Amino acid sequence: MSGVVVLNTDNTALHTVSIQHAIKMLVREVAIVEEARDGHSIGPYPWPVVLRLIRYVKTSFLYARNPAWSKRGVLRRDLHRCAYCSGPADTVDHLMPQSRGGQNTWLNTVAACTRCNNLKANRTPAEAQMPLAWRPSIPSWREAYHRRS
Ligand SMILES: [Zn+2]
Repeated sequence: MSGVVVLNTDNTALHTVSIQHAIKMLVREVAIVEEARDGHSIGPYPWPVVLRLIRYVKTSFLYARNPAWSKRGVLRRDLHRCAYCSGPADTVDHLMPQSRGGQNTWLNTVAACTRCNNLKANRTPAEAQMPLAWRPSIPSWREAYHRRS
């Protein structure tokens, strides 16, 4: 049998639970029946197909699209390797330099060693003729926060 869909208060589906779990939620009064199976009931309750939570559950952390940028996150994403020479990285390089309006974003920053960072100075990789060993990407939560370095 398929599970019971649980909706947040804003109508977004959170997950599904077993019918037993759904009944426990009703008993604990944390959810109400949004949609029931016609002609079926379980004790005093209509047989739930969809439940709606009574209190809003914050999912912004779980479901935010991207982790926030951080220097440490960039180093983790790039496995502490310099994007120019692949040596050990100890800093973060801005592809479009900050002095020219480059932002602290996942796609504008790569891990770099101090040597390459100084060598590149206020130029883009193309201007400095320093090709990137990889293209920067937006990391998953795991890559940004849980990857071992
Ligand atoms: Zn380097």
